[in-house]
Amino acid sequence: MKEILPGLYILRRDRLATSPPSQEPLYGEKIVDGLRVWDPRRSKLAALLLRYPCLEGVVPSGKVLYLGAANGTTVSYLSDILTGGMIYAVEISPRAMRDLLLLAEQRENIIPVLGDAARPETYRRIVEPVDLLYQDVAQRNQAEIASRNASIYLKPNGLMVVMIKARSIDSTARSTEIFDEEIRRLSGVEVLRRVDLPHHRDHVAVVTRKLR
Ligand code: SAM
Repeated sequence: MKEILPGLYILRRDRLATSPPSQEPLYGEKIVDGLRVWDPRRSKLAALLLRYPCLEGVVPSGKVLYLGAANGTTVSYLSDILTGGMIYAVEISPRAMRDLLLLAEQRENIIPVLGDAARPETYRRIVEPVDLLYQDVAQRNQAEIASRNASIYLKPNGLMVVMIKARSIDSTARSTEIFDEEIRRLSGVEVLRRVDLPHHRDHVAVVTRKLR
């Protein structure tokens, strides 16, 4: 077992693991030697970190704006490794928010926000400047949503990771063309790397840094 980032371990067979505050599995995951197994097939962020552990400087104490938190599966793993940090977890679906609220009750570093990531000004009173903007909303205008949030909330030099799903944008055009076009639409950031995600067909992760 090797630690690839503070509190993030790589196990055999391409699995990641984190050290949770309690030993109870939250989403039916395995616990091995006290560590929560983080399956890259179930989380695009886990798949990205296996290929490119880009969160240096963000963990363990950074602030994160997470757009598209869903029921909190991936948020819970980020919470494990952000022991001194904070996650502002934005989700539009009230149904998913119910699960997220239950998770946030157990964690001191998650602030759930029921809101629309396409209207970032609506959560200005809650969210503070962040070191990482992570977006996984599967919407047609993903690049625009990410750029607008970054312009308001991301610190200069901060990291932005956008999970781009080709099928959310156009179900007929070739994926590579869609990804290129979407990346061109990101503004105010420089692209550090584009990563094809293992286990997630039709998705790429775009890792960027905000310009000063
Ligand atoms: N990131 C999650 C994980 O790994 O556990 C999965 C996210 S799922 C692919 C996409 C989520 O984005 C859904 O829960 C959906 O309700 C949410 N979503 C879609 N549009 C949104 C918007 N405009 N604002 C906030 N959340 C949105």
